[in-house]
Amino acid sequence: MAIHKTAQESDAIIKELRLKLGPKSKTMKDEYLIQFLVARSWSVSGAKNQIEKTLEWREKHKVNEHPVATGENKLPLLYPIRGYNSIPDGNLEAAPGLSESVLRINKYMGGSCLHKTDKNGCPIYIERLGYHAAKEIAKYTTVEEVSNYHIGCNEFLNRVIMEDCSRVANKTINHETVIFDCTGMGWHQLHMPALHYLRAISDADQNYYPETLSRLFLVNAPSSFVFVWKIVKAWLDPGTIDKIKILGSDYKEELLQYIPAENLPSFLGGECTCAHMPGGCVPSQMLKNIPSLVPQSHNEKVSTPYNTDIMQKGTSYED
Ligand SMILES: [Zn+2]
Repeated sequence: MAIHKTAQESDAIIKELRLKLGPKSKTMKDEYLIQFLVARSWSVSGAKNQIEKTLEWREKHKVNEHPVATGENKLPLLYPIRGYNSIPDGNLEAAPGLSESVLRINKYMGGSCLHKTDKNGCPIYIERLGYHAAKEIAKYTTVEEVSNYHIGCNEFLNRVIMEDCSRVANKTINHETVIFDCTGMGWHQLHMPALHYLRAISDADQNYYPETLSRLFLVNAPSSFVFVWKIVKAWLDPGTIDKIKILGSDYKEELLQYIPAENLPSFLGGECTCAHMPGGCVPSQMLKNIPSLVPQSHNEKVSTPYNTDIMQKGTSYED
């Protein structure tokens, strides 16, 4: 599906797109414009339209001001991270400032981590998809809470981790590699209400964060996954489908082609154990390799990922 352009061709198209967008394109990097162009098969009007809708959406929901954790502001993390320069390794904790909804969502998640980088210098996001309590997520959380949480995670990824990786790689990094481990997956996860949550998230990603996926590996996929895949596939752009590899138990060699062994957790065939951190590479309340997180009175019951005062202070948040 990918349409390849020579540097000269893409330069000319980017110039045309900048002209059509006017002054608002000044702060946008070429790489950012390319994300939208690729998503729209290099249609200038299509990319312009999508960028304008994204700007409207960001304005309406104040996404530019969304607070993100940095090494300096010490805001609580929304999920565990390992192996970046500008911000220390950490886990999700019931820390002051984090909302109760983030803790409730994570209580039913199998465990996730933004874990080091692939051979291109892109961050790797790992999720223990097979241990998600899909029915409970649909029952005890709302689409709004899950969507807000996802936006908070996206902003952190783009504004903190991608920037960090770009500095290390000395080039613009605006893609991530994703590994979904299906170990533990069963028929109980074929739950339509839960799949609708997934749809809300994938729609937002495709509309407002296009072309940020480098590759997505689904490993240890059971044969029953074929059924779910047929449903999910219909929601995705063809360009996204091309980047998804569904692998059974024989995935190690494939992953090691793209990821250095020292950056790949040992449970996925690599050498990393993150022994210095509680829960190792990918902490999981479901697997009980970390204690359950219990919300405290300082974890406000709001649908945003951080407490109201922090959301209102936005990016001007200082400790
Ligand atoms: Zn690790």
